[in-house]
Formats: sequence, C-alpha cells, structure tokens
Amino acid sequence: MSGKLFVISGPSGSGKTTIVTRVLSNVENLRFSTSYTTRSMRAGEVRGEHYEFVSREKFQSMIKQGSFAEWAEVHGNFYGTPRAYIEKWIETGIDVILDIDVQGARRLRGVFDDAVFIFVVPPSLEILEQRLRDRKSEEEGDISIRLGIVKEEVACSKCYDYIIINDEADIAARRIEAVILSQRQRDGEDSRQRMLAAATRDVRTENVYGPVFLRKFGLK
Ligand code: 5GP
Repeated sequence: MSGKLFVISGPSGSGKTTIVTRVLSNVENLRFSTSYTTRSMRAGEVRGEHYEFVSREKFQSMIKQGSFAEWAEVHGNFYGTPRAYIEKWIETGIDVILDIDVQGARRLRGVFDDAVFIFVVPPSLEILEQRLRDRKSEEEGDISIRLGIVKEEVACSKCYDYIIINDEADIAARRIEAVILSQRQRDGEDSRQRMLAAATRDVRTENVYGPVFLRKFGLK
C-alpha cells in the first residue's frame, strides 16, 4: 500500500510548526517533508531539519531541473517541496506531512489527488498578530507583509478537507492526529473492499464454488 500526503497550511503565526512537531512525535510512519527555501535562517532553526536553506540561484536551477513537486514565492522568498523525497516515502508506504502555503497546496491538489488537505487557523486575527510579535523572529516590515495576506489565505481554507482552529496547540495536534488515523483506517478498509471484490470476481469466473463457499469468506 502506498503512503499518503497530509498537507497542512495556515497563516504565518497560526502555530503550524508547533502542531506539526507534536503530531510527528505522536504518530508512527509519518515523515516531515523538509522544504527548500531562499529565506534566511532564524535563530534556533536547524539546517536540513526545519529547511534546506539555499541561494536564489540554486533554487532557480532546481526549478529548471524539475526537482520540486511544487514551489511558490511566499512573503518575498521562495519555498519548494523536493519531489524525490516525498515520492520515495510514498512508494515505501510511509505517510508524509507537508507544511506549505495555499499556492503550493493548490498546485499539489492537481498532482496528488488523494492527498488530505488540512488548514490551521488561529482563534482570531488579534491572537495571530500577538503570536507573530511574541516569537520575535521577524522585523516589523515582515510582520506587516505576513498579516497583509492573512485574509486571502483564510479565504482559501474553503478548498481544504479539514479546518482546525488552533486555540491550544495540544488539542489542535490531537485533532490532526485523529484525521490522519481515521484516514488510514478508511484507506485500509478501501483496500480490504478491493481485495474482497477481486476475490469475488475470481471465484465467480471460475464458477466452481457456490454460495456456501462465498459466505464462509464473508462474501455474498
Ligand atoms: P516561514 O518563513 O514562516 O517558515 O514560512 C512561510 C510560509 O511558507 C508558511 O506559510 C509555510 O507554510 C510556507 N512554506 C514552507 N515550505 C513551503 C514549501 O515547500 N512550499 C510552499 N509552497 N510553501 C512553503
């Protein structure tokens, strides 16, 4: 069985990073897709863990080589999801979680049609602004840019499969975990149904066994 993509978006300051970190430590068989970015590294960030930090030139050449499953310009910097990484995990049956913006999510929707899209919103605009200021990682100008596009981003939430309000990180993380686990359950059930359908077809084609045999295996 192949893995699934869980795409998380939400305005800057909505608390996605904290939530995703918690989800990753609580759910097995789930990997984080580390994006490439041209923005500069913030204090506390680890190269290769939070992002692969690259120059604009390097990013442009990766676009040309088709290295990204999607990429977008966000708040004046480039961000991209490395294609090889997510394809490798999906092929080996591992689920992948991505933290990407609304443009990137839109692009992925056309490529991975069974991906699950989750949008994280802060409880209010005021709380979002407070969180952005509290984390003290952006300049004032950068905070204004980020706040400026919040309404546009939130308007895109209607295209997502789930909207999670982040009033408390632990609760929001648990809600996302519930989405992932129930999706896995559903996928498992789907493949069981497909197996049953195939078994029923084979048995009927051979026309050897009657209804008693079918009932024995739970088939009608
Ligand atoms: P930040 O600079 O605060 O880490 O991220 C800014 C925005 O870029 C966030 O909304 C984040 O979800 C988004 N982002 C991070 N990585 C990617 C990516 O690979 N592709 C796209 N399209 N957006 C990304």
